[in-house]
Amino acid sequence: RAKSAGGNRFEIADPEADARAITRHGLTNALPAALDRGEFFIEYQPLVHLGDGSVHGAEALVRWCHPQHGVLGPDRFIPLAERTGLIVPLGRWVLQEAVRQARFWSRRHTDGGPLRINVNLSPAQLQHPGLVADTVDVLERSGLEPGALCLEVTESALIGADEDRLKPLRQLAEMGVDIALDDFGTGYSNLANLRRLPVSVLKLDRSFTQGMQRHPADPVDLKIVEGIVSLAHSLELAVTVEGVETAAQAEQLRELGCDTAQGWYYARPGAPDRIHTLVLADAV
Ligand code: C2E
Ligand code: MG
Ligand code: MG
Ligand code: MG
Repeated sequence: RAKSAGGNRFEIADPEADARAITRHGLTNALPAALDRGEFFIEYQPLVHLGDGSVHGAEALVRWCHPQHGVLGPDRFIPLAERTGLIVPLGRWVLQEAVRQARFWSRRHTDGGPLRINVNLSPAQLQHPGLVADTVDVLERSGLEPGALCLEVTESALIGADEDRLKPLRQLAEMGVDIALDDFGTGYSNLANLRRLPVSVLKLDRSFTQGMQRHPADPVDLKIVEGIVSLAHSLELAVTVEGVETAAQAEQLRELGCDTAQGWYYARPGAPDRIHTLVLADAV
């Protein structure tokens, strides 16, 4: 990191920063071939009903098994893919793979309704003209009902979006696809603005859950979450919380009226058969 301490404003050579930039460059260049060679894979993290702990669905989280660097998390390469546009074919692959997986689960899990699948969309995918057609195509080819798919869009991607930008999401919502506002509470969205967006789920950011780590939890934090939940419910939005790591948090969030939750307390992201096992265990 360039140091500005002591009034020195010039940059000091930082070999670590150089190395990081070189790695970034290398990773960016390697992305297209990695997609061709099938180096990406998806982990699934269950979403559970806070009421009874039953599995509601799973979020698809992409990883890159890099031949030299090992398994890389999305924070390492999604921003690069976003910048080069590779996110569009990569995102299409994730959608196709996750929907295929969800369809497989739904064939084996017939009672209690289909398992839902959540897929993240990045801002570049939102702006890509093929989004609606690609999604319809993926759903039709797999046979998964649109109501079992939830697309997660970050709050920041929708801030200031005009009607044109919202149109594809609106079309998908009209088909029955759920749209979730991911990382909610980290952006600057005007709460009143929510009613204008075609979303049906709010995903409360992990920072709220973290605020509840302390015992007793900060009463102001609790009031804020309570307020968001009641506003969301009055707009007929479901509330999911991310980053639940302890039983105490889960209990607290359940009392505050949150609907579904996700976090290490329930399960870390993992291989697809993990979800399969959880759901089958649930069904017995
Ligand atoms: P996100 O959509 O908010 O996903 C939740 C992140 O929180 C995941 O990180 C998950 O592993 C992590 N997490 C879940 N439970 C806990 C917990 O209890 N404690 C803590 N500390 N962390 C928890 P991950 O897998 O590293 O993904 C990071 C972000 O990368 C995602 O944030 C999402 O924005 C993005 N991403 C992942 N997959 C895709 C994808 O296929 N497409 C796009 N466009 N973005 C993706
Ligand atoms: Mg997400
Ligand atoms: Mg999130
Ligand atoms: Mg997040």
